[in-house]
Amino acid sequence: MPHDKLEEIQLEGIKKTVISCYENVAFYHDTFDEAGFDPYTVKSLDDIAKAPFTTKQDLRDNYPFGMFAVPRSDVREIHMSSGTTGIATVGGYTEHDLKIWGDCFARGIEYADGGEDDVCHVCYGYGLFTGGLGAHYGGVAAGCMTIPMSAGNTERQIRVLREMGSTILCCTPSYAMYIADTAIAMGIDPKKEFRLRVGIHGAEAFSDNFRRELEKKLGYRVLDVYGLTETMGPGVAIECMEQNGLHLAEDHFYAEIIDPNTGEVLPDGEWGELVITTIDREATPVVRYRTRDITRILPGTCACGRTHRRIDRLHGRTDDMLIIRGVNVFPSQIEDVMKTFTQISSWYQIELTRKNHLDVVTLKVEPNPEFNFDEVRAIEQLQRSIQARLKSALSVGIRVRLVEPKSIPRSEGKAVRVLDLRGDDQ
Ligand SMILES: [Zn+2]
Repeated sequence: MPHDKLEEIQLEGIKKTVISCYENVAFYHDTFDEAGFDPYTVKSLDDIAKAPFTTKQDLRDNYPFGMFAVPRSDVREIHMSSGTTGIATVGGYTEHDLKIWGDCFARGIEYADGGEDDVCHVCYGYGLFTGGLGAHYGGVAAGCMTIPMSAGNTERQIRVLREMGSTILCCTPSYAMYIADTAIAMGIDPKKEFRLRVGIHGAEAFSDNFRRELEKKLGYRVLDVYGLTETMGPGVAIECMEQNGLHLAEDHFYAEIIDPNTGEVLPDGEWGELVITTIDREATPVVRYRTRDITRILPGTCACGRTHRRIDRLHGRTDDMLIIRGVNVFPSQIEDVMKTFTQISSWYQIELTRKNHLDVVTLKVEPNPEFNFDEVRAIEQLQRSIQARLKSALSVGIRVRLVEPKSIPRSEGKAVRVLDLRGDDQ
């Protein structure tokens, strides 16, 4: 669809969304009035920037059903995200919302020419986390035979991958790596004994190096998927086979990029915080929801020919941003430097401690298996050159420690990339 036609659909949907929010959700009624935003006067997409932002805290404050824009009896499913503070936010789905969700995720499967001949193996968690059912609805909507594995019990995952001939793997990238490494440790070559051809991985950021390593081990192509419970779940944006940015489902979500400090809308191409307005979500529509995810809108069109604009792969979250001795650092910037060294793997952990009231950052990295760990001088030399490159790229002193291969904990859920131990001064 030509993009101007798409924008007409967006505008019509947004007009309905802001009016539904104003008339049915007390929170939006109050905040629109306070901000002087009149939902009945939206005439162009730019007018949406006059609406106030919605934050995760707003959703928490309206727990459990305060954000519902439809009667409770129209809601067919809910999901919750807890976050670190333990107070949940609730997303509701009508029948229509569930259908859209399945269709959005199914696009990723269709990007990979998937369909009725495919076996979609879902090992995202199903318990309240949107990953499991989002991928599941997508697999069904795309016509695949879908297996609801959920996460964990890795040996059983491996057995099913072999015996059912799963072709599409949906899980976090770190769990895909865990499955691959476990299979290899069991003497199974996943490239030969699995029939995987595509992985749709999301819910955590991963580097290009990590992607290549996965693709090499599992013999498939990895597509990045983005989404969050507050706006729907996975499927808000998915990479096509070009692997150069994630196509936004722009017929269902309107995206803006803002400066996280000033709230100002940034032009295409500039990095900032992603803000999403739902276009046709019925149960829990959101207006200008601050995702806290850092990305940018990629200018230009994709070689695949699709007209939906793309966001870049996530560059971390505004709340993952480390402030080290007053300097803003994203873990992804550290990954970018790590990528320039062929001797090290993509496994790392950042440890933050405090000594004499000053932040101390230690980057623990695992060298590649070929690296000779007995050569003390080579270790020291490599540590020093990584340190120097980090210093010049980030303007922050980071201690680098090479650690034994496989000594950084692998988890079955999300990888713990940052350990903040600054609570206790040492
Ligand atoms: Zn594309």
